[in-house]
Amino acid sequence: MSIKQFTKILIANRGEIACRVIRSARKMGVRTVAVYSDADRDALHVAMADEAIHIGSAPSRESYLVFERVIEAAKKTGAQAIHPGYGFLSENADFCRACEQNDIVFIGPPVGAIEAMGSKSAAKQIMEKAQVPLVPGYHGEDQSRDLLKQASDDMGYPVLLKAAAGGGGKGMRQVWSPEEFDEALDAAKREAMNGFGDDTMLVEKYLTQPRHVEIQVFCDQQGNGVYLFERDCSVQRRHQKVIEEAPAPGMTEELRAAMGDAALRAAQAIDYVGAGTVEFLLDEDGSFYFMEMNTRLQVEHPVTEMISGQDLVEWQLRVAAGEPLPLRQDQLQINGHAFEARIYAEDPENDFLPVTGTLSFLQPPESSDNVRVDTGVRQGDEVSVYYDPMIAKLIVWDENRDKALQRLTKALSEYRISGMTTNIDFLYNLASCAPFRDAQLDTGFIEKHHSVIFHDSQQEVEKDLPLAALYLVLKQAQQADDNAARSSDASSPWHATSAWRLNEPHVHRFGLQFHEQEYPVAVTQHNVANATRYSITLDGKTITAQGSMDGNVLHADLDGYQLKASVAEHDGSYSLYTQDSALSFSLVQPDLGDADTDGSAGGLTAPMNGTMVTLLVDKGAAVTKDDALLVMEAMKMEHTIRAPADGVVKEFYFAPGDLVDGGAELLDFEPA
Ligand code: ADP
Repeated sequence: MSIKQFTKILIANRGEIACRVIRSARKMGVRTVAVYSDADRDALHVAMADEAIHIGSAPSRESYLVFERVIEAAKKTGAQAIHPGYGFLSENADFCRACEQNDIVFIGPPVGAIEAMGSKSAAKQIMEKAQVPLVPGYHGEDQSRDLLKQASDDMGYPVLLKAAAGGGGKGMRQVWSPEEFDEALDAAKREAMNGFGDDTMLVEKYLTQPRHVEIQVFCDQQGNGVYLFERDCSVQRRHQKVIEEAPAPGMTEELRAAMGDAALRAAQAIDYVGAGTVEFLLDEDGSFYFMEMNTRLQVEHPVTEMISGQDLVEWQLRVAAGEPLPLRQDQLQINGHAFEARIYAEDPENDFLPVTGTLSFLQPPESSDNVRVDTGVRQGDEVSVYYDPMIAKLIVWDENRDKALQRLTKALSEYRISGMTTNIDFLYNLASCAPFRDAQLDTGFIEKHHSVIFHDSQQEVEKDLPLAALYLVLKQAQQADDNAARSSDASSPWHATSAWRLNEPHVHRFGLQFHEQEYPVAVTQHNVANATRYSITLDGKTITAQGSMDGNVLHADLDGYQLKASVAEHDGSYSLYTQDSALSFSLVQPDLGDADTDGSAGGLTAPMNGTMVTLLVDKGAAVTKDDALLVMEAMKMEHTIRAPADGVVKEFYFAPGDLVDGGAELLDFEPA
């Protein structure tokens, strides 16, 4: 076997994985070529690579998936090898073959290995021969209804019907009793036919509380193979991973060795070369079953890198060049514990629907030996409809699981993204909930602990709302102080900085938006000696609260319960990160147009303490309903006040620059 020395490789991918591969290549002194679509002209991976070739329009079918263009780009730039990343062409046997035909090294397994793992039933037959444990089930060719039914009856319910050609959770149906069988089979076959043009089914025993534990394997062209331990990827939403960790909690040396050996048998059964992952379901009793093998580098490979101290992309490049594996099994060791959280542009409150937008503000936590952020985007970039909405992978390491978990929650609370809804608060809630801390993992984790993770029970709401209200009150008070400090009138009562307004009790009202519901809040301020206390009435209950801000940390006292929270502000909403939850809320933009419409004549009132920014019409002007009359600023947001009806503005009571108390009348309006 001759050892080639790559001097230049092409990365047939985009986003974080393209950037990830470029980093290792650069470290090894290998030059890199990026490819890009119209949408990615200014993308980070393009900027990072030494050269970049445009390969088509934004939809991946017209660019990243057109392998002729990718091959052409490699030939044009003289790249000797292609790294496919994950997704796109990474498990495409035809692409792998095309590389071979063009004398370009595919940094991945041989064609045969990709093909062998292409069908779930064919893969199972190979694994059965290699004595890799399979979920009890049927994966034969005879597809008659009676036979599939008999197999299910023999196995005992529940069973899982799975499309042999399936992927992404499509063509799968759980069957809980013999009576449900026929209907479920019809549905699964229909879905499989529509999705994959092939309705061949397998039947598996349905495990009710399994964990998803996968083994990282690596093989070289000389026939050596090692496993780099396991990853637990049980925390999934819609059968997709959200938080992964290594090693798997509770793993014993014996089980690890048994799973590692089985994974290597699986790899060797298909003459595997390079990085691969063998996915298993791990049952409560410690039995494990082969699910599938992914013939590429996985999204979650960094947790393995963190605990093994190895650079898997470097290994891939070496092995593809014909070098033997850098280490033997007995030279590999687990050191500490790592987590990866996938930061997505998506709305967890809306069934994790992907969202799009511009990353108007982007500040990841600071990177260190303990915190790694793998990303492919920069502030100002778009998260578009064309590609996966993953913004970054946050990876943390520490010497044990508890410490690593603390790193994870801290780093999540420091992640600042504006411009779109993300899953950061969801991840924070997940990572800080007790069942996750206790590692009670299984693939149904999120559904099972939904109310804890989403903090949507009445009890949680009652606990969280006063803290949110206190923060908004303090923020308003601070704003008043800032305004006073800027004011030129030294005798102004606004200069009484400990108070947010005059000393007599004054009720302030505002709305708080929480879990898509609006809660009216009434706050009374009391100044006692040097301290300011607030009575906050919310949801029919009144509590006494005190608090202060220290940088972005809120110190709160709610009826004697003292706690701290760090605060993030994004797009006019706030997140408070306490010990055990991320609390997301916003101040309701008061609809002032309606505020006074029911009454006859009269004024419009200020929604909260703020500053008059500008008057948009002249005194005495005739206006029509919804005309903008003035703009106020409060809590760094501008609020436009509009005419409630057709009429005349007889008087403005404030001039631009004036401080306005919440509830104060702003103008004299006479409806027509
Ligand atoms: P796909 O290729 O469609 O993603 P997989 O076979 O990889 O399907 O399974 C995806 C997920 O479905 C697994 O991670 C696991 O959560 C669940 N699953 C698969 N097979 C079983 C089974 N026999 N019992 C219980 N859950 C299963």
